[in-house]
Amino acid sequence: MKHFYVMILLLAGLLSPVYAQVPVYGEYKSPDKKVVLKVYQEQARFFFQVFRDNQLLLDKSPLGIETSEGSFYNDLTLRSKIKIKSGREKYTLTVGKQSKIKKKYREITMPLINLQGKEMDLVFRVMNDGVAYRYAFQNKSSCTVFKEHGGFQLPAGAKGYLTPLSKPKTGFAGTNPSYEEHYVMDVPAGTASPIGIGWTFPALFEVPGSGWLLLSETGVDGSFCGTHLAEQSTGGLYTVAYPSMDEGLYSQSPYPTMSLPGATPWRMVVVGADPNRVAETTMATDLVEPLYKSKFDVVPGKATWSWLVLKDDSITFDVSRRFVDMADHLDFDYCLIDAPWDVQIGRDGIERLAAYAQSRGVSLLLWYNSNGNWNEAPQTPRDRMNTPAARKEEMKWMQKIGIKGLKVDFFGGDKQFYMQYYQDILTDANTYGLTVNFHGTTLPRGWERMYPNFVTNEAVKGMEFVTFDQGNADLQPSHCTVLPYTRNVVGPMDFTPVILNAKLGPDGVSGTTRMTSAAFELALPVVFQSGIQHLGLVPANILNFPFFVTDYLRAVPATWDETHFLSGAPGREVVVARRSGDTWFIAGINGENREKLLSINLKGLIKAGKEGWAIVDKVGTFNGVEKVDVVAPKKRRTLDFMVPANGGFVAVF
Ligand code: CA
Repeated sequence: MKHFYVMILLLAGLLSPVYAQVPVYGEYKSPDKKVVLKVYQEQARFFFQVFRDNQLLLDKSPLGIETSEGSFYNDLTLRSKIKIKSGREKYTLTVGKQSKIKKKYREITMPLINLQGKEMDLVFRVMNDGVAYRYAFQNKSSCTVFKEHGGFQLPAGAKGYLTPLSKPKTGFAGTNPSYEEHYVMDVPAGTASPIGIGWTFPALFEVPGSGWLLLSETGVDGSFCGTHLAEQSTGGLYTVAYPSMDEGLYSQSPYPTMSLPGATPWRMVVVGADPNRVAETTMATDLVEPLYKSKFDVVPGKATWSWLVLKDDSITFDVSRRFVDMADHLDFDYCLIDAPWDVQIGRDGIERLAAYAQSRGVSLLLWYNSNGNWNEAPQTPRDRMNTPAARKEEMKWMQKIGIKGLKVDFFGGDKQFYMQYYQDILTDANTYGLTVNFHGTTLPRGWERMYPNFVTNEAVKGMEFVTFDQGNADLQPSHCTVLPYTRNVVGPMDFTPVILNAKLGPDGVSGTTRMTSAAFELALPVVFQSGIQHLGLVPANILNFPFFVTDYLRAVPATWDETHFLSGAPGREVVVARRSGDTWFIAGINGENREKLLSINLKGLIKAGKEGWAIVDKVGTFNGVEKVDVVAPKKRRTLDFMVPANGGFVAVF
């Protein structure tokens, strides 16, 4: 590979240096040579481009960062030779779409220097499924970062599947932003966000005729803030933006300060020929390292959860005991007790409930308000997580009475303060044998690998919204088909799937109407991945649905050894095959309001002739399902399901 080094010509009589114009600075290929990163230098600024199979997926995109150590945007030159190394990552995940992961990459480090003599390394990784970069600083000190000039330039004609960032302090009790907006789908790159303050990661784009890409970031811990895509995206240039001053408290800085030597989180670009290849990526965990080892056996699993359908009134000892019984009946590991358990059940009651649950082989998970003073959410318990002393005391009690995990809700945004707060909760929870699930929260960014006791995160307009408003229920079929290609690609997602009640509301009559079929709902624990799946079942569902539904709910796992997205398109439909041990689960959902034939090519995943069974919608009913026998077809033959409007299926082999 040739490199062209910039020559700085300091000419006598000139005050500023003159830079040689170098169109292509370097061209770097992925291990399989299909993905190509091109780096440019123009006017002493750096840009990059990404190609896959010779197709341009990301056009000339700017790079640069402003820090208290100096500006690294204009007037950058190489201070020493570009370093290129080949590496490989081999790791296992307790929670995820794949349990054993092996990835090859090439890492390119460009040691740069600015006019003031300050040094910064621009580090790229090129992988078979995309490109990532970060800014690294080798000097020993600390620095505050004020701005990134980096952005992503979509080629002309690109179309986005994006979710707007919500305005700070809007939403329930001023708890936004918490990544709970519907997606805007199939819009031209450069379209303004309906809320007017930009878009969250991840952002999916199609470049028609060329391929698909997903923009996100990973590796964000307490040393940095979360970022998003700025509102201004004229011409399809989406720049990296830092949290607004308005998020959380004004006393919390929007500018992260990191100790050096150190590096920013990775900005990543996943590429693929179609959205199904993009959805299979593990890049968000490939690029990070565990921050600690788990001190206990983290057990992924399923939980019963009364609040989703029955709301606050259900948080009593007696109702919770029935949900523990249902968890036992379904062989679920967990039962989540939501707010306000401290008031309506009490601490003594929880101790008795935990003991009862243990006698049935079930562990309790408990809800907490993250509070502090950054939101007005009145739900209790409050003030138990936001100071180290209270948190440790609480967790010690939880461990003593056999609680296995916590759900912490209502965080204040993406500033560094919150990223450190997440890390502190996770680290302490690890000491006390507790898994962690965040709600009202930010996107997880590589956390299931960085923090081994992190099992799931909300950061999605989840099932609860269907119970709040009919407009949400109406959008649910298409919403569920965009999430596997966006939010769930980069981390576990606590959507809280599977409601089998047709009507939702206090009396089961006057509330919202579910628009998805029962088989659609039953497919969701396979379509969505979450280290703990909190299912929206109530005991009556178990009585009213056939026994094979119970068999399926018992069998379906919450983490996977292997995942293949077989077909589908965001907003329309999705078909996914996931393996746990020797068992394959194939699930499909139809996000459109018309009947469809979904023909599944198993691509040799399952031995031809292997017998299985499937749950499908019962024709002519809204909430009825039936069981059918299925056989894995020979190569080039397909397994066919005629799926009704907003319907689904799930097959088990
Ligand atoms: Ca929520």
